[in-house]
Amino acid sequence: MERAKGMICMPWLQSMLLCNHNQPWRGRTTWPHFSSRMCNWLCRSLLKLSLFILLVLPNVRNVYARDVRPQVEHYTPNYKYYHNISQIGIQLKQLAARNPNYIEVDLQYKSRVGIPQYVLHLSNFSSTRTEPGLFSINMAKPKILLSYGEHAREFFPVESLFYLLNNITRGLSAPHGSPAESLSRLILGRVDLYIIAMANPDGRRHVERTKNYCWRGTSVGVDLNRNFDWSFGGKGSSGNPKDEEYRGPFVHSEPECQVYLDLSAHHNFDAFLSLHSGIKQIYLPFADAESKKAHAKPVHLDDQLDLAQRMAQATQNAFSYGVAYNLNDYPADGTVFDYMAGVRKVPFSFAIELWGEGDSNKVKCFDLFNPSHENLQSALRDIMPIYETLFTYMIHWKEKQVHKSFHQDEVPEFGLPFGYSLVAITFCLFVVMIYRQYKPYGFHFYQRKRVVSLRSLSSTFASASGIKMT
Ligand SMILES: [Zn+2]
Repeated sequence: MERAKGMICMPWLQSMLLCNHNQPWRGRTTWPHFSSRMCNWLCRSLLKLSLFILLVLPNVRNVYARDVRPQVEHYTPNYKYYHNISQIGIQLKQLAARNPNYIEVDLQYKSRVGIPQYVLHLSNFSSTRTEPGLFSINMAKPKILLSYGEHAREFFPVESLFYLLNNITRGLSAPHGSPAESLSRLILGRVDLYIIAMANPDGRRHVERTKNYCWRGTSVGVDLNRNFDWSFGGKGSSGNPKDEEYRGPFVHSEPECQVYLDLSAHHNFDAFLSLHSGIKQIYLPFADAESKKAHAKPVHLDDQLDLAQRMAQATQNAFSYGVAYNLNDYPADGTVFDYMAGVRKVPFSFAIELWGEGDSNKVKCFDLFNPSHENLQSALRDIMPIYETLFTYMIHWKEKQVHKSFHQDEVPEFGLPFGYSLVAITFCLFVVMIYRQYKPYGFHFYQRKRVVSLRSLSSTFASASGIKMT
């Protein structure tokens, strides 16, 4: 046993450790020498440590990153229940054609291969206001952008979009006052909603053609959600084209990014949501390694936490929430929701994973990100309160913002008391003017001066003195 142990320790290692008990040629040294037992223990420990470093550390990222090569799946999607890439396009166009007053579909943004990303705009185009109210405050609508289909293997978020759209359009013909009708009225009447329905159509087509349900990237394997100009190239992404978090050769290298850049440049969105699956979590900015190091916080953090908490509560706390670098123990660099928060300054920017129990070695790729078709409808129903909470919250938040700016515009530098004084003075002047216009007969603010004509004065004198005037 001892011999066997001794064989583990190679002479060069022993000499490094100053184990000169069997290396008399090494001579004397000023360093203390270890005993034979201690030397063997040190050798074995060092070898184990070296093996650990060699075998485990290079794969640390893979603890979090999945292999994107195909694997044998437990379950593959039934396209009678899940939409495939062609059904997605057909149904979105049909929805827009059936509801021209409420849904527009824009096909100009396309993937590298040339498949539309289907940008939807939902609003009540025939009316800009639905409720009577004072001034223009009620006309303020929060502008919201939702993003689906960034990761090819995540079918569930796209299904949740169809579930949401079907609920909205169904409500248009529902009885007045019913929950369905109220939801439609709320969203179409009081929200200006933009949707990128299929951000990464090439990736989805690749999944369907190859039946590789582990594929996450674009047609060239770039993770779209690591390709944006926010901490691009950081350690929360990979430079290896075979890694599922491959960031791409340069920032915004993927044509699929353009739709985000254009929409966020042309619209001042109040909220942006990047929808994913794999676990039930609501992430607030930021997710990148640099922000974690600097403890960076987004603007409106308290409001964002408030909304995230309400969304979580609406699902019976099935979701955890928080700043992404706190919620996750690994960074993500170059994400689109960080870009919207950090570069475009969108007040509310979330990445939400809508379904799943998290990763484990036993779970196959499709099952990790998507429920089976038997459980699809109930899973979709369960997350509807997230959308309802989002829209309701943002409507009230926007109203508060408009109220605030309204008052600030009225009395910019003098403060509220001065504003009230101005209103009071104006009111008093108005009352005086009205009073003067319609004053009671015979009443005056001041005594009128008596005007005596010369004629009447002379006649008075004449009558008194007997002089006759001609
Ligand atoms: Zn994802």
